[in-house]
Amino acid sequence: MEKLTFGEEVMIGALAREVKDGDWAACGTLSPMPAAALWLAKETHAPGAQVFVAGSSDWPFENLWQGFFDLAQAGRLNVFYLSGAQIDIEEDGTVNIFAAKKEAIERYSLQQFQTRKNEEYRALAHEIDTCKQEIVKLEDRQLDCMEEAEKVQREAVQAAQAAATLKRDVEDQLGKLEVRDRNLSQQLAELESDRDKLADAVEMSALARYERLMKHRGENVIVGVDHGVCGGCHMKLPTQIVVTCRGESELVACPNCGRVLYYTRDMDLAVAE
Ligand SMILES: [Zn+2]
Repeated sequence: MEKLTFGEEVMIGALAREVKDGDWAACGTLSPMPAAALWLAKETHAPGAQVFVAGSSDWPFENLWQGFFDLAQAGRLNVFYLSGAQIDIEEDGTVNIFAAKKEAIERYSLQQFQTRKNEEYRALAHEIDTCKQEIVKLEDRQLDCMEEAEKVQREAVQAAQAAATLKRDVEDQLGKLEVRDRNLSQQLAELESDRDKLADAVEMSALARYERLMKHRGENVIVGVDHGVCGGCHMKLPTQIVVTCRGESELVACPNCGRVLYYTRDMDLAVAE
């Protein structure tokens, strides 16, 4: 026996679940999957089901259909698998069921050709028109779906391009930051090695004062004088302090915060109002 595909197994499982315990269920001669589903249901969750598979060895009726149709007419059947309906899912995602409508038109046209009754002829013409209108609707819907699919596809392409550009930018920036990180690390190493040499040249008491300030404040201990205020605590400085600072002959500290003050020519000595 040919091995079943996964899809076929899923289908048989789904069909089997339609049969409840105690149901009377049947299928035709050329329906291997519904037949398998009926026997599966009986073997598993519906042991009390009566299953009839036309053409099988356990078919209980004397001729193929007579007894069975009597049973169906008596309303004893709960489940009967007729035939499959082909539903095509197109590449663009639309579901195509035109075939069913077109078949119906052919069937009605044939009946129309065979009938001699005007009333029946008109009724069939109406059915044909309805089918045609439904086909037009389906075709419109299909076109809409195709347009929508194209739009979504274009959007996806644009989004992918934007993502690629953004990724390039980010990689570019990361590259630049890495270079900057390397340069800064190098500069820091140079400054650290220079610091000891420079510290040796500073007067002992001044260095000790600087070290104390650094320990206390953590950073920003040598500040400029701008607009007559201390660049650290921003308090107004006494005029004498500013003048001494400008003389550049001794180390001057802010009387408020103790930071060492310095002055350069581009700083404004005038006190801000
Ligand atoms: Zn200060």
